[in-house]
Amino acid sequence: MNACVISVRGVVQGVGFRPFVFRLAQEHTLAGWVLNAGEGVQIHLEGAESSLATFVHDLEDAPPPAAVITAIDITPAAPVGIHDFTIRESRPSEAPTARIAADLPVCDDCLRELFDPGDRRYHYPYINCTNCGPRYSVVLRLPYDRPNTTMNKWPLDAYCAAGYGDPANRRFHAQPVACPNCGPGYSLHTEAGRVDGSDASISRAAELLCAGRIVAVKGLGGYHLACDALNAPAVSRLRERKYRKEKPFALMVSDIARAREVVELTPASERLLTSPARPVVLARARHELPGVAPDNDELGVMLPYTPLHHLLFDAGAPDVLVMTSANRSSEPMAYEDEDANARLTGIADAFLVGARPIARRVDDSVVREGAHGPVVLRRARGYTPAVVATLPIERPVLAVGADLKNAITLVVGGQAVVSQHIGDLEHYDAMRAFDETIRDLTSMYRIRWDDVLIVHDAHPGYLSTAKSRELPAPELLAVQHHRAHVASVLAERAALNTRVIGVSFDGTGYGDDGTIWGGEFFAGSVSAGFDRVAHLRPAALVGGDAAARHPAQAAAGFLVQVEGLPDLTAAPFHFPARYRQTLDLAAGGVRTFTTSSMGRLFDAAAALLGFTRAITFEGQAAMWLEQLARRASSADRYPFPFADAELDFRPLLHAVASDRRRGRREDEIARGFHGAVARAVCDAASTLCQQHQVDVVVLSGGVFQNQLLSTDVESLLSARGLGVWANHVVPPNDGGISLGQAALAVFV
Ligand code: ZN
Ligand code: FE
Repeated sequence: MNACVISVRGVVQGVGFRPFVFRLAQEHTLAGWVLNAGEGVQIHLEGAESSLATFVHDLEDAPPPAAVITAIDITPAAPVGIHDFTIRESRPSEAPTARIAADLPVCDDCLRELFDPGDRRYHYPYINCTNCGPRYSVVLRLPYDRPNTTMNKWPLDAYCAAGYGDPANRRFHAQPVACPNCGPGYSLHTEAGRVDGSDASISRAAELLCAGRIVAVKGLGGYHLACDALNAPAVSRLRERKYRKEKPFALMVSDIARAREVVELTPASERLLTSPARPVVLARARHELPGVAPDNDELGVMLPYTPLHHLLFDAGAPDVLVMTSANRSSEPMAYEDEDANARLTGIADAFLVGARPIARRVDDSVVREGAHGPVVLRRARGYTPAVVATLPIERPVLAVGADLKNAITLVVGGQAVVSQHIGDLEHYDAMRAFDETIRDLTSMYRIRWDDVLIVHDAHPGYLSTAKSRELPAPELLAVQHHRAHVASVLAERAALNTRVIGVSFDGTGYGDDGTIWGGEFFAGSVSAGFDRVAHLRPAALVGGDAAARHPAQAAAGFLVQVEGLPDLTAAPFHFPARYRQTLDLAAGGVRTFTTSSMGRLFDAAAALLGFTRAITFEGQAAMWLEQLARRASSADRYPFPFADAELDFRPLLHAVASDRRRGRREDEIARGFHGAVARAVCDAASTLCQQHQVDVVVLSGGVFQNQLLSTDVESLLSARGLGVWANHVVPPNDGGISLGQAALAVFV
């Protein structure tokens, strides 16, 4: 007889781990017990040595689908001579560091039951088990037990209670378990009245969608607005009502086969699409779907992830649906029933509403497969609140991120948890969500404020900065925006001491000197700090934020320094009249700021190539330029010299303008522009690598969401034998800033 204690860490609570261990122990005729401990799951085992060994092998080999094992420690123990295996009650722990699991898509076993007429939960839109279903979107507080979830007002009936209490059952301690007899259901609400009963309301919703209507659908982490994606008038009606002119809509397709018909999927993108996070995956469209993603060759596609979505398709809903966050314009998605009703009346023709409350807004995540692994563009449902990095600090750190695409990071016991995407803090609802998320995470992890280190952006005017001053923490620290971008990559890779050249390109961020940065090169490491060693040649930014909305206005700030330009208000440029006034302001220095923003340089190039109207969503002009460049089959080499620690944009913009004037194809010029930026980054970075004797280049910032640019830069730098590191876990845009802030704070 032998005995041992196994502790398993990672995402192992709330994912069916204990029943899995129970079954495994029975299979191997081992005695002992399993329990949830503060740090993970602890197993005591007794039995034959060979059985113990195969048990450990099977444990590592085939854990429950939603579990993520990060460490297994095995220590020998003294046998106590027990003869059965039990699941013991959890040990109450002082400060929970166990991870809350992210929300999971409905599993295959539940799907089978969902469509089995003989099953108790046949067609039940809230079917779930320990391997699937809601977690983060229903938990109100820790520990993760039913009274602490939004299912607390539905007592289990005898049938559900039996499964919940049986260690051999797939629903053993599945906190949100329910059935049509004891749990919540769906209903449909229209002006004409309401339809009760899940089946009837889902069928009616499917009919309405087929008829071209817009239906607000309550899902896992919020409401969606759905309509038939192949019905162009329906799509344009949705755009009109939602005040969303051009920003792409996400799609939900009935299954993977349909997804393959809608977009071109590589094996890697298929893996992302079917991964437990079930994110929206961006991929090249096979055909244009009018109105869904104007001026864009890509579509964002996701698969059904709740039982409700499967029921909706099964009830005959169109098999390609627009499934966009339910909001007006760019406000955060609605997730509370009353608020949804108030905000979406006049947009949705009907509301398909489930009675289970949503504990917090969790948007769909957005990812794409890049040349060197996944790129997360929006990190939310399915990913949060996982631990993304380990940092060498014991005291709690709260990093509040930036004002755009806000997400926060909480470090507890050295484990960095990044929150879901919160949004742009200028919106009242996003600001509220920001407050709630801070309250949420700090109370879940029982953080004591008297010890918290708060980290915020160095921008004195940021709302997140102002808010962090109101929090009851003893210490505040400001971290410069672009250094945080670079640090986010190194935190992901647990490479805090690695010396690198960091390239940080984005639209805007507050610099050390009070000007607006965004085309920055740094040398150093997270632990020793980063020195700014080069940057884009400064330009004028006329009218501040307005320049970010008007590419022609952004262009003026750069072009005022370029000599020998044609008249850009004339053909073929057709810059709007305001361009000339802006030039005058820039020349006179009136209402202008100084910027080294690479994002604005891309806007300037877009304007020169025809994007002269105002943008209707952030990053639109740069996305347009990238799409244009992708259509080119050849391109010239344009100059973009690097000298005296500065990238000089003047010859580049001059070449772009002259080629356009000469009637050169716009797509080829756009491609040439991208190539020039990529070569310039490579020249600058490799020169700096030599100077500072390092061999790794880090790329971060919103500009690197541009796949054409990222791919070019990565292959050029790799060809020179340099390591190239980019974000794969948190977004390269400002959604990743808080992780970098937290990492830098550790060493201050
Ligand atoms: Zn399930
Ligand atoms: Fe940024």
